This record gives sequence, structure tokens and C-alpha cells, in this order.
Amino acid sequence: MSQTRRDFLMASSSLITASGVIGVPMSTFAQTGGAITEHKLPELPYPYDALEPYIDARTMELHHTKHHAAYVKGLNTAESALAEARAKNDFLLIQHWSKQAAFHGGGHFLHSMFWKVMAPPGNGGGGKPEGELLGLIERDFGSFESFQAHFSAAANAVEGGGWALLHYRPIDGRLIVLQAENQHKLTAWGVLPIMGIDVWEHAYYLKYQNNRSEYVKAWWNVVNWSQVAKNLGAIKGIALL
Ligand code: MN
Repeated sequence: MSQTRRDFLMASSSLITASGVIGVPMSTFAQTGGAITEHKLPELPYPYDALEPYIDARTMELHHTKHHAAYVKGLNTAESALAEARAKNDFLLIQHWSKQAAFHGGGHFLHSMFWKVMAPPGNGGGGKPEGELLGLIERDFGSFESFQAHFSAAANAVEGGGWALLHYRPIDGRLIVLQAENQHKLTAWGVLPIMGIDVWEHAYYLKYQNNRSEYVKAWWNVVNWSQVAKNLGAIKGIALL
């Protein structure tokens, strides 16, 4: 590896680590097709039963150890396959592995964020945002209540599996709510997510069955607003364009 390339990778690693937004492990290993990250399933910042009664312990355990773990594995598999394709100069399956990298990469990122933007109810979770975050929400949505109504409606209306996400858009400094289908579709370029709710059925079906709106309503009791404010702080000021 050239000195310049090594310096760049080291700088990138420390930048991402310094942001602390999702805590992606940055261990890399050499491949003849280039260096890639060995992604790892992050620990939850609380026990599986910490979000009771709003999200049950069994759902949290399955969601973390089975679903999120599968996205981590899928992302590692896709990125390894792409490195191998580069090493062999064989891009026959480029479309397949590109799609896999987008789906599993989206899944790994969003779940890593999801665990952190939740906290035990009454102990970091619930209530309202404060300070600058509240100010931006009130400016861009009219009021906190209208933001909640907009975000909840977006979550309730996602077709199939997906997410409702609050983003910061550096180009004009606005907060934007979008849906995502699966882990990665329907997003816009140039926005960075700072919070989101998983509305795949695996996130709520054991407790809420088909009543997604009841789950979405309950979820507000576990939102970790101080983490959302941290996420905003980490990306605010980024000049994308
Ligand atoms: Mn999920």
C-alpha cells in the first residue's frame, strides 16, 4: 500500500471513529482487491429488556442477534465478493453484489443507529428534544407535535418492510423526514439520517401483531433525544456540496 493511500485510510478511520455516530469497527484486512472493513455486530447499549414495556425483550434479542447479525454477515460477504471480483478482474456478478452491498449495508447502518437512538423509558428515553434540535424541529415542522404526526404517518404508511427516518440536509440545513423501503430504497441523495424507526414486522410483531401504529405510538416513549442531538451535532457543518 502506498504511503498516501495508508495515510488516507488512517485519516478516514479516525474521522469516522471521532464522529461516534454509529461506532462502526474499523479493523481492516488486506485483500489483493483492496482493503475492506470487517464489520461486526455492535453491542446494545442496554439489556434486551431495557425498553419494556414498549418493546419486549424477546423481540429485541431476536432483532439484534438474528436480524442485525444477518445484515452484518451479508455486508461482509458482499464486500468480500467485490474485493475478490477486483482481484480477479471478474465482474460477472457485479449487479448482484452491488445490490447486496446496498441492502445489507443499509441494514447494518440503520440498525446500529436504531439501537442508539433508543433508551430505557424514563431513563434517557422519551420526553421531548431540547435546545438546538427542538428549535430546528419547530422551525422546519411547525411544532414538535406536527413533527411527531408527520413522522408517525410516514412510519405507519411504509409499504412492506422499511423505516421512517429523520435526516439532516447539509445543503440547506433543514431537517427532512423520508421513508425507506427495505433498508435502502426511497432515500434522497444529500441527506444524512439522525434518527429512525424500524417498521419491519420483525421489529414489533411478537408484541403488537399487525398493529403497527400502536408500536409507532409506543416507540416515542423510548426515543433517546440526547443521542439524536449528538447525531445532529456530529454531521452539522458538513459541506457536502
Ligand atoms: Mn430490523
